[in-house]
Amino acid sequence: MSEEMKWEAGRNTHENIIYVCFGGLSNTGITAALAALEAVQELGLKKVAIGCLAGLPTNVAPVHGKTKAAGKIVTVDGCPFECSKKVVEAAGFRVNKNIVLTKDIGMKKRRSTRTSVVT
Ligand code: SF4
Repeated sequence: MSEEMKWEAGRNTHENIIYVCFGGLSNTGITAALAALEAVQELGLKKVAIGCLAGLPTNVAPVHGKTKAAGKIVTVDGCPFECSKKVVEAAGFRVNKNIVLTKDIGMKKRRSTRTSVVT
């Protein structure tokens, strides 16, 4: 049975929130994006949702509300530039866990040569 989730500012519809760099120019950014999507698919939207990274510096109220209401904030970045962690912190939030694919699993960054992210 699925429960409709209403997107209201400040209402905690998701237990935790993931922010992902989603960099499409490299293998690392694409992998970060796919990893976050996989986590949501496996755990379900009640447990975790992917936050709107661009909604933080643009001050989108519901995005700030959801982030404030989240139990934990996790960022997933492809490389040492740590784009998502920096954006989240610049918006005034504390990151509970930051994963960097090049550092934490030793992924080598290279330009993306994929023509599709769907296999
Ligand atoms: S963290 Fe690295 S891979 Fe991700 S968007 Fe920034 S530069 Fe690209």
